Amino acid sequence: MPLQEDRQKERGGADYGGLGRGRARMRQEIVDRADALTREKIAPRAAMYDREGKNPVESWGDLRREGYLACAVPIAHGGMGLDMATYIGVIRTIARGCASTAMTLHMHSTVMRFIDALATEAQKHRYYAEVVERGKMFGSWGSEPAVSLSRTFTMETVVRAADGGWVVDGVKHFCTMALGASYYMVWCALDGSGDMANALLQVLVPAESAGISTDGKWDTLGMRATFSPTVTLSNVRVSQDSTLGKPGSATGVGVVEGFALGYAAVYVGIAEAAFEFAADYVKKRVVKPENVSVANDPGVQRQIGDLEARLDAARLVLHDSASRWEAADVAQRGHLANRAKYLTTEIGLHVTSLALQITGGRGAYKDYPVERAFRDMRTASLMPPTMERMVEGMGKIALGLGGSMFEFSAGPKNA
Ligand SMILES: Cc1cc2nc3c(=O)[nH]c(=O)nc-3n(C[C@H](O)[C@H](O)[C@H](O)COP(=O)(O)OP(=O)(O)OC[C@H]3O[C@@H](n4cnc5c(N)ncnc54)[C@H](O)[C@@H]3O)c2cc1C
Repeated sequence: MPLQEDRQKERGGADYGGLGRGRARMRQEIVDRADALTREKIAPRAAMYDREGKNPVESWGDLRREGYLACAVPIAHGGMGLDMATYIGVIRTIARGCASTAMTLHMHSTVMRFIDALATEAQKHRYYAEVVERGKMFGSWGSEPAVSLSRTFTMETVVRAADGGWVVDGVKHFCTMALGASYYMVWCALDGSGDMANALLQVLVPAESAGISTDGKWDTLGMRATFSPTVTLSNVRVSQDSTLGKPGSATGVGVVEGFALGYAAVYVGIAEAAFEFAADYVKKRVVKPENVSVANDPGVQRQIGDLEARLDAARLVLHDSASRWEAADVAQRGHLANRAKYLTTEIGLHVTSLALQITGGRGAYKDYPVERAFRDMRTASLMPPTMERMVEGMGKIALGLGGSMFEFSAGPKNA
């Protein structure tokens, strides 16, 4: 199905191909195409990328050719303009084949949503063309050595105005897509101010800018193809139109909450892949003196039933949160993302662990995707907000005490 045709129909809102198929069908087709692409091209490369710990560049190329790099770019700018439910379906589907490819697409797509929410029309024109016409990718770098993103949104990387443009200085940790993306959205503090509510500023730094260096170290348990080393930005000069929105506005537009919703989609995709493998394995595995597969054992059936029920619950909460996204305000989005991430973390960790157990000792073989699923799930679930922060936030809302998903630092606790 040519992407152009999808876009045309979204624009026109008319029936599709004269067959009377509705928007829901078109959305399903977008997810189905992602599924075919994942099975045919993306999944077969996942073990290699995992082993080598490098950016999944060829898989990005496939996503680009099929239009998925522009899945969160508005239709008016030539993208797919996917609603959140369809988008989350795409990320979950790709994660079944390669969690790192899905996670990097999600990071990139979240930057697209920040541009939509905060950029000027001229900036949108410029940056979206980079994606739609030239297939460029954007990373998002917030994490820093001395600051916990799971607690507060505090940045020590500084941006300041200079010579009609901006200069960025600082050190970023976990720089996903380093040496792979074309732009890095760097989260900074304007003039180094500690008052993040008025100083937080995102700067779109072209990858080829002078003054960017990396140790290139990224050797982790899982999510190895997110390639996220430490990067130092020293006196990096960018043009005047490189910052997004007013200082302090980035956390008030209902986009940052989407990071966690996308992580939840990745967790569900990873868990589904582990389940699919384990269910298939027990149907084939025959252990002497039996002459039927272990799938006939009631104990194994109970384990598979347990995983199936939990996975269903994970899919339901994820889909429900995503479906309610567009109508939700910023606080509600925080809640929708928290509950989806919280529950899919618990379920994802359980499913990947038990799927490995069901497969048995051979489950630890690198040849089997269940081993990678286990490592990817454990690693991806480290990404903030942490479990205790999510339940705390949901508890506050349930108690009518308000609160947002992210907080700015209230300053140090004195000993
Ligand atoms: C695969 C992967 C990809 C990533 N990609 C990106 C990316 O593209 N961009 C990006 O910006 N970041 C990225 N990150 C980093 C991520 O967003 C987190 O910043 C990073 O994992 C550190 O978060 P943390 O809160 O777990 O660790 P820390 O902040 O070091 O916290 C460690 C522990 O201490 C606790 N803690 C923290 N502060 C306090 C306190 N004040 N009091 C008591 N306890 C405290 C935390 O709850 C946590 O349990 C990535 C991480 C991973 C694993």
